[in-house]
Amino acid sequence: MRGDNAFCPKSGAPLSKNRHYDHCGRAARAVEDDSASRRAGTVGELTNGAQRSSRTALFRYFRRSHERQFDADTALYRTATLALRRLKTTATGRQEWDDIVWFALHARLDRKGHDATWMLAHVDLRCPRCGGRLRYTDCGSGEIFATCVVDCTDDNADRLDEIRTLVANLYAATYPDDDGPGVDDLLTF
Ligand SMILES: [Zn+2]
Repeated sequence: MRGDNAFCPKSGAPLSKNRHYDHCGRAARAVEDDSASRRAGTVGELTNGAQRSSRTALFRYFRRSHERQFDADTALYRTATLALRRLKTTATGRQEWDDIVWFALHARLDRKGHDATWMLAHVDLRCPRCGGRLRYTDCGSGEIFATCVVDCTDDNADRLDEIRTLVANLYAATYPDDDGPGVDDLLTF
């Protein structure tokens, strides 16, 4: 994941608050020292996170985020591990990015009776076309739209619809026997 919620894409370890600059002046953050980054050998690596993190990293980030607010929950972690394995194996193309996998995981856990609302505070949605940031707008009807900040398709199109479709398609491909969430049930603000 990139942006405010970025983490080490190989281990899931947190990144330093401070930014470091390479000889070209590019900013990056350092992977902090924890048991996961030590195991993966990424302590101190400079990164801004990735659009596509490893399954291990996503799970580690999931668990770390959960434990910041709640007691450890082995049943939840078991379900999440299995779900992540299936989702990551099935995902193709843009579905493979962390934000889409994260929302599909959220839908699966919700389906399995876990309260996964907390997950929504730990993800940044990105433009499905260019990976850029999104700008959220309420057009007065109470419905929230999200447009790409650089307007990469030059039409100010709502990206939330595209994101909902990506999540619903990934879910349906991963769990063909489960009705799953309808597109309209996903990402409602
Ligand atoms: Zn874009």
